[in-house]
Amino acid sequence: MTMRKTKRYTLQSLKKKEVVGDPYASTYPRTGFAICPECQSVYHRKRWTLPRTEEDTIIPKSSRPAKKIGKPLMFPELFLCPACQKIRDGYAEGFVSIVWENWLAHKADIMGFIHNEEKRASHVNPLERIMTVRTRTDGIDLETTTERMAQRIGRDLMRAFKGKVQYKWSHKDKLARIQWKGPTKKLAPRKK
Ligand SMILES: [Zn+2]
Repeated sequence: MTMRKTKRYTLQSLKKKEVVGDPYASTYPRTGFAICPECQSVYHRKRWTLPRTEEDTIIPKSSRPAKKIGKPLMFPELFLCPACQKIRDGYAEGFVSIVWENWLAHKADIMGFIHNEEKRASHVNPLERIMTVRTRTDGIDLETTTERMAQRIGRDLMRAFKGKVQYKWSHKDKLARIQWKGPTKKLAPRKK
């Protein structure tokens, strides 16, 4: 056995190892075929997908070895997918801060938007998710599992509502902080 330092992932060490992407993406199920016990995403052909997508019918009923024991067939391993690992650990890579004046008038629109955004993203890639939504008096804060997801929310907010957006990256571009401010109508009188 070689000596190994027990060390948490740091971005420096990741860079040395030339691991592309985030630390959670570099752990894979051993067998190459797995199901996430939390979200039921399926790992197959080296990617995670939702089991419902048509292109990935992972366990056709005919190939299920009904009650045969002892044959190592295509039984999936239970393996927490990277997104559920991040949610468990509270490890976010994207942060989106949404501020909109007269928030209560816009809240329903934004929440609907966020809901659709997550649905669309996780359908394409189940690892891209919104981890937390924290409400404030003037908006909400979101945490996402990937920086791409945060970036996309910023972009789509602009497309849907205009306003102003700011993108900031840190930690070798692995963390994204997006600030979006809803448009203000200067001519409209303020309502309290
Ligand atoms: Zn999962």
